[in-house]
Amino acid sequence: MLSSNFFVAFCPETRDTRVLTEKGNEMIRENRHEEYKVLVGEGVAITNIAKFCDDEDNKKIVFALKEIMSWNSFAKSLVEQVARKGSLSDKQLFAASAMLAKIEKNKADRKSNMFSLDVSKILAVLDKADPAMKTPKIRVGDFVFSKPAPHSRNAGSLYIKQLGEYIGKVTGGYYLPVGSVSKDTVAEIQEICKDPMESAVAYGRRTGNCAVCARELTVKESIDRGIGPICADKLGLI
Ligand SMILES: [Zn+2]
Repeated sequence: MLSSNFFVAFCPETRDTRVLTEKGNEMIRENRHEEYKVLVGEGVAITNIAKFCDDEDNKKIVFALKEIMSWNSFAKSLVEQVARKGSLSDKQLFAASAMLAKIEKNKADRKSNMFSLDVSKILAVLDKADPAMKTPKIRVGDFVFSKPAPHSRNAGSLYIKQLGEYIGKVTGGYYLPVGSVSKDTVAEIQEICKDPMESAVAYGRRTGNCAVCARELTVKESIDRGIGPICADKLGLI
């Protein structure tokens, strides 16, 4: 029988196909190498990860673990073990899948409880506030909207309190309520978002209390503005 080398040597078509296939495989190997490098860096770990990820299900798991390993120490330990040994026990694989499924479910649950909310106008008012104001806030009716401290992990979000109680934050255009916040409350907040200053001033005029610090307003000019002179100055309104 003729060996395959014979065909490669004497049949140009076969040879070309084989060269192409090898090139293709080489490219796939290189791509995978890059992919795994992202996961574990250079070295023997890549061989171990590649071995483990030969199985597509394993690959999905190890990449999902990578996503959360910065804050999840279990995920981190598993990825490190794969890098070190190229394997996980069945028990570990099961635990990892269960954990990832739970995280996904929590994420989905949270999403279904989220409301789209455009707070850009509130943020615009608060952004103008004097930097000396540690937590710039604006009060409208029962609500207080405030910005987290600049170095807080929630920087860029907006906190909402209702009657002094924290009821959630707005991040990336979504309001994430804490506890059971009624649809009416959400509708009220949505209304305020349309023109927060007008709502705040209306509140100040109606109640005679400053729309920022809630202190009683005594001067007619302040009542008309709905905000006391000190707060108006801090918010860059006068
Ligand atoms: Zn005030």
